[in-house]
Amino acid sequence: MQALLHGKQLAGHKAVVVGAAISGVAAAKLLAVLGAHVRLLDRNPEALDAACREDLTLRGVELQLGPHKQEHFEGAQMVVLSPGIPVAKMAGFLAACPDAQVLSELELASWFVNVPIVAVTGTNGKTTTTSLIGHILTRAGKKVFVGGNIGTPLSDLLLSGEPCDVAVLEVSSFQLQNVHSFHPKVAMLLNFSANHLDYHADVDEYLQAKLNLFARMNQDDLAILPLDMKDSLEAASFTKARRVYFTASDRFQENNLPGAHNKANMEAAWLACKAMGASTEQITRAVASFKPLSHRLQSLGEKGGVLFVDDSKATTVEAMRAAILSFDRPVRLLAGGVFKGGDLEGLVPLLRERVVQVGLFGANREVFEKAWTGAVPLFWEPTLEGAVTRLYRDSASGDVILLSPATASFDLYSDYKARGRDFARIMDGLPDDSEARQ
Ligand code: ADP
Repeated sequence: MQALLHGKQLAGHKAVVVGAAISGVAAAKLLAVLGAHVRLLDRNPEALDAACREDLTLRGVELQLGPHKQEHFEGAQMVVLSPGIPVAKMAGFLAACPDAQVLSELELASWFVNVPIVAVTGTNGKTTTTSLIGHILTRAGKKVFVGGNIGTPLSDLLLSGEPCDVAVLEVSSFQLQNVHSFHPKVAMLLNFSANHLDYHADVDEYLQAKLNLFARMNQDDLAILPLDMKDSLEAASFTKARRVYFTASDRFQENNLPGAHNKANMEAAWLACKAMGASTEQITRAVASFKPLSHRLQSLGEKGGVLFVDDSKATTVEAMRAAILSFDRPVRLLAGGVFKGGDLEGLVPLLRERVVQVGLFGANREVFEKAWTGAVPLFWEPTLEGAVTRLYRDSASGDVILLSPATASFDLYSDYKARGRDFARIMDGLPDDSEARQ
């Protein structure tokens, strides 16, 4: 991949990168390799550790850590915005460089990628499906780069110089807001429901950001889309790509992914891998060897006859719905945290049917209590530990204690992984004996 890069491509070009997290740092390094004059900004004076600062400085990147100033943007021809930084919020600063192209790291890196791209977006299931496609194509003998929003920015593929046959990318609505020429060979929308309404102006803006993934595809490309959105998508002219609609199927008898929602994810992965040349046999074998990822309906085992399941990555109401539907044993549900929007009232019939008790913890109890009080036995504790202990005390052998909180974790934890790890720690400390918990 590195062959496509040389130090003169952007020589003399002035680029500003806003946000010094993982993708901003990768974009700054890539721009430096391309010969641009790069200024990397972050409001947080502590944004980078000493080693990273030194590395970037040696590469010729100018660092500006602390409050943004208009002068940081003056003369810029290109502004790379990190995911989660809305253009509207930067308008005051962007006025200092009215002719600058505003783009995402994904857009920048894609200019230099010369292998087919498989792109995965949707409200839920992106990481699982992206990893599954990567796993299948690797097993089918291809050299695969798996990255994007999932952890390794696309720029890092270019910087590594590693050979690769196909790039499988998880893409978020944040990244898709600032792409202009990004053009995948195969792209999928897994599903769509209200999310990130704390960031997007409304649901339609969120959907338009997702559909922007398909805008530059043509008849030789494949768009994989959810069947339940067929009517609305066919009515919208959002792509010239060939379209195929999918829904959950029983195609894979042998698999380790629980729930009907994962049957849909597997079907979408199947269509993508077929389009990339994998055989039915290769796909079937690879699906059978794929394991659920951590914190996504991950079974932690049983204690006192009670199954503990870590679905800490469930940050949306639809992910919570999918989780509850995945069990045919009584569910004791752990919910609460920073609520991002969604229809909690709509879950009431399902709660009545499958959930015997809800243990709320942390922030936004009022949102859950308003929607669910009277529909299901419910209590609140300030911490996850308090809520787990109470649910376990009340539980009977055969129940499942399910952490599927439908929220972001930032009220109590650094991220969903820390929340999931704490759940496992709390479970470890509970008495084994079902008698002892009474
Ligand atoms: P994402 O990367 O989109 O957040 P993940 O694969 O990390 O998706 O899964 C996040 C949460 O969504 C998990 O709780 C998982 O069980 C749930 N989930 C996965 N696929 C789906 C789906 N198709 N519909 C609803 N929920 C899903």
